[in-house]
Amino acid sequence: MKVFDGHNDVLSRVFAAGPGAMEGFLSGDGEGHLDLPRAELGGLAGACFAVFTAAPPPADYEDGAYFVPVPHREALREGLAQAALLQRMARASGGRLRIARAAADLDGDGLAAVLHLEGAEPISTGLDELEVLHAAGLRSLGLVWSRRNAFATGVPFAFPGTPDQGPGLTDAGRALVRACGELRIALDVSHLNERGFWEVAELSDAPLIASHSGAHVLCPSPRNLTDDQLRAVGERRGLVGINFFPGFLRADGADEAETPLVLIAEHAAHAAQLAGPECVGLGSDFDGATMPAPLGDVTGLPALLDTLRSAGFTDVQLEGIAFGNWRRVLAETWG
Ligand code: ZN
Repeated sequence: MKVFDGHNDVLSRVFAAGPGAMEGFLSGDGEGHLDLPRAELGGLAGACFAVFTAAPPPADYEDGAYFVPVPHREALREGLAQAALLQRMARASGGRLRIARAAADLDGDGLAAVLHLEGAEPISTGLDELEVLHAAGLRSLGLVWSRRNAFATGVPFAFPGTPDQGPGLTDAGRALVRACGELRIALDVSHLNERGFWEVAELSDAPLIASHSGAHVLCPSPRNLTDDQLRAVGERRGLVGINFFPGFLRADGADEAETPLVLIAEHAAHAAQLAGPECVGLGSDFDGATMPAPLGDVTGLPALLDTLRSAGFTDVQLEGIAFGNWRRVLAETWG
């Protein structure tokens, strides 16, 4: 069974590793959770590849504080480098990796990469960079990571906590939501705070997508969606990609690799109950977070599908969660 995964940070990993790392990704050097040969072994047919600008936490960072904002110039430089890296990877892959620009590109052999921006810091408020990145293949965007920027406010990671922290969108954020609507770029609400979530829901008529989040009632992390948010995702025919990070799965919020895969199935079942099984998918966070030890890396995807099947999902529901629901929601958004 083929899989579409809603979130990985492999571009950040390969970018940070420097020269030679791209060749290692293509030939399969076993680094991180994801390289091309292991993706093929795991049945990965499509994935959102995040462009993300890291920022060191401030010296006085305490658990629960917001991460510091990233200056636009730095974010643009790093964002362009990661977007360029994906172009080079695709070109050097001999057809095994392609950048998906339309729904039809999600079908067929090989791995379809959706270029995603996790945090809009590389974009200035005039939105010129959005136009250029869209022309380069950008098809999915999250307004924020877990910090404030010119557009919106993300949630911090402090556990336990509510996603209802901080103000809603700025005027520039509302303009960016409208521009994504015009360009038909998918809007991702993972990392966005709750006020921002409801404003996006009101401003945009596209499906509501949370690419890598879980259910707050099962794990009270601010990164997870409340039941009201999950119902809204279902009402808008959107999608929640269940995150594999133990800290967003476990009731105790622990970053503990010894975490059973059945927790992913429990989050998927709760999301399916409130949003509908056709609005649930996967959003691993490969190369961006600790993975459950029984999964290991991308080659563990078949074991996860077995766990979902054992948890009671039918074959039709499972095909949707593994691939079809992501395909539907992206096709509807992109037109
Ligand atoms: Zn993330």
